[in-house]
Amino acid sequence: MRTLFGLLSLLLLSLPIPAMAGEPPMKVILLGTAGPEYFPDRLGPATLIVAGGQVLLFDCGRGVGQRLYESRVNPRDISRIFLTHLHGDHFDGLPELWMTPWFLLGRDHGFDLWGPEGSAEMVAGMRAMYSHDLTRRVNPFNPVQGLDIRVHKVAAGTVFEHDGVKVTAFPVEHAEGNPAFGYAVEWQGRKVVLSGDTTYSEALVTAARDADLLVQNVIAFSDRLDGKPEMQGVLAKLTTPEQAARMAQLARPKLMVFSHIVTKDLTEPEAADRIVARTRAAGYAGALVIGEDRMTFELGDTVTMAPPPSLETLVPLDSKDQRFP
Ligand SMILES: [Zn+2]
Repeated sequence: MRTLFGLLSLLLLSLPIPAMAGEPPMKVILLGTAGPEYFPDRLGPATLIVAGGQVLLFDCGRGVGQRLYESRVNPRDISRIFLTHLHGDHFDGLPELWMTPWFLLGRDHGFDLWGPEGSAEMVAGMRAMYSHDLTRRVNPFNPVQGLDIRVHKVAAGTVFEHDGVKVTAFPVEHAEGNPAFGYAVEWQGRKVVLSGDTTYSEALVTAARDADLLVQNVIAFSDRLDGKPEMQGVLAKLTTPEQAARMAQLARPKLMVFSHIVTKDLTEPEAADRIVARTRAAGYAGALVIGEDRMTFELGDTVTMAPPPSLETLVPLDSKDQRFP
């Protein structure tokens, strides 16, 4: 009996675990796909991953609260946040996401926040900046516990594991943005990998091997900017289409989507066309998507993509009793 059970356990452990019947698939929403630039239709970098009923937010770029709302995710429901690094464009949206759902939407819990060395100091600075609200907006309806932030310093390896969802951090290479991390998120045999901000990285190739979805930063300028000496620094700290092609050729994700798209003076659709053309010319023939804000991916046996939902039926979200339909 023991032997049979043992053999069965071994067999089960060695097989990829399929998503349980009836359970929603792992979902990824690109909340913001820009870099620091002001674009008409892209906001700052932020990616939401939903797996097994758990909601994990990666980076908090400008407008993240607005994009959550527009994606029909109540900003009040965010409690776990992972920062890739401490460049401000990756947490510009954090103060608003911290404050507004607390006093407006009745959030009664704070955040667990994972980030690199320096994150605790950043959070302390944010608390100082909001000291007026922290002392005068607290009342029986807005308890101060709703503003707690527990900071967890990220190092390479597993940083989060709960009810089958595992988040692994790996160091990447982002010049003066270091320490910088990418993240792999796994659940029931599915894997999403976020490059974070990085140039070509062996660690990223290793982490992204056979991932279902690779969310990859990309930088591509016009010919005019490409040759400017002052642009060489920024070009060297992010991933060019050619580097992305090389990494994806090695890692072979089911789908690569570009997000945190840094194009400076290039505008759409020329920017997207050039990025795709350069990636293809560099030899990557796998599935490739140019990310858009609020685009959603579902990870089943195949990766399916849904366009951003219409904003027409979106109602104001202005009180704690409201629910999205
Ligand atoms: Zn950065």
